[in-house]
Amino acid sequence: MNYAYMPPRQQILTIMSRLYEYGMTTTSGGNLSIREPNGDIWITPSGVDKGALRESDMLLMRGDTVVEGVHRPSTEYPFHRAILGSRPDFAAVLHAHSSALVAFSIVGKLPDTRILPQASRICGKVGFAPYAIPGSALLGQNIADAFSRGFDTVILENHGVATGGADLLQAFQRFETLEFCARAILAAAGLGKVLPLSDGEIGLLDHQRHLELPESVPAHRSFRERELRRAMAQTIHRAYDQRLMTSTEGSLSARVDAESFLITPYGIDRKYLEVDDLVLIQGKAREAGKIPSRAAAVHAEVYRQHPGVHAIISAQPPGVTAFNITGTPLDTRTIPESYIVLRDLPLLPYGLPFQDEKALAARLTPHSPVLMIQNDSVMAVGRSITEAFDRLEVAEFTATSLLQGRAIGKLAEISQERIREIEETFKLPK
Ligand SMILES: [Zn+2]
Repeated sequence: MNYAYMPPRQQILTIMSRLYEYGMTTTSGGNLSIREPNGDIWITPSGVDKGALRESDMLLMRGDTVVEGVHRPSTEYPFHRAILGSRPDFAAVLHAHSSALVAFSIVGKLPDTRILPQASRICGKVGFAPYAIPGSALLGQNIADAFSRGFDTVILENHGVATGGADLLQAFQRFETLEFCARAILAAAGLGKVLPLSDGEIGLLDHQRHLELPESVPAHRSFRERELRRAMAQTIHRAYDQRLMTSTEGSLSARVDAESFLITPYGIDRKYLEVDDLVLIQGKAREAGKIPSRAAAVHAEVYRQHPGVHAIISAQPPGVTAFNITGTPLDTRTIPESYIVLRDLPLLPYGLPFQDEKALAARLTPHSPVLMIQNDSVMAVGRSITEAFDRLEVAEFTATSLLQGRAIGKLAEISQERIREIEETFKLPK
């Protein structure tokens, strides 16, 4: 799916459906706009069910005049117009009321995007705009003032959030990433102090070798490679739909043979990823014309050290992230499934994937097929894509159960004697 070539009506419908289907806004709350090069503005209609929106429902506005469309424009059109007027670098604005971000807006706080290295870069500068009655010129002025001070993402007091971008997809990615940070921080409440990264720590992202390999044109695609491409694309869509990955974060790779593996590309939205977007890494060369995910150097080292590993998945699901951003170990000795699937789940220091992929890969053992990396991600390996994906799912379910359990009582750990019984019954590697 090539988002950039869609007409504006279709772009708005695509992103609005995405917001609504993933529970990021309500039927009545949320509106989107796109500015044409001549200054006209496309906007969502007022009073139309977001679950049943069609392309023909969108409006094209020139100032206060409807140029195209049968409905009235969104009641928030004045603030879209004010934001776009204050920021020539924006061509789109997104406004929505996700429950996690509204929680922050009600208590007058900003979600800290410095909890994960990429989040602050995706969201840009995050600011706050004071309350005014919805639809009013004053609200438009308050929000436009915040954006004109250089904020790219603004929390609206007792209301919701607005983001802008060079296109609507960028505005969406900013919103989705901020919403993800909000959910992770809320999940971490009570677990411990959330530990944000310093500028220097975030800067490590730039030191990560982006697998600067020479390009090669593969001779032909084997049937195994084609089969893996299909399975990988399906798994990535599944991970996105379950919100284990976001549009910009999360990588999956699979071994093709002793010399090569396939990996997710850098910079392509996970929801729209297609089989041909996956990048083949063959020996010391990458498939011509494609940039592999940042995780490629780590994955290459894991395949080198562990011949039994056939798939690797790295992601930032919100439950595990709550543990990662507070530096809290996740106790797998709480239900048999968690211990059988995850075994011990070490929490490794931030920065290891950027600084020492050999040391990181060496931490994978039969006792620890899944690793947590502080203020970063969870990485699971498997003999198959399904096994690696299951481990990611089990890690997230376990994290969520522990967070929910803590809210209602004291967590009971399975005794060492019962753990030994599980190890023997299920013949787990010693
Ligand atoms: Zn609103």
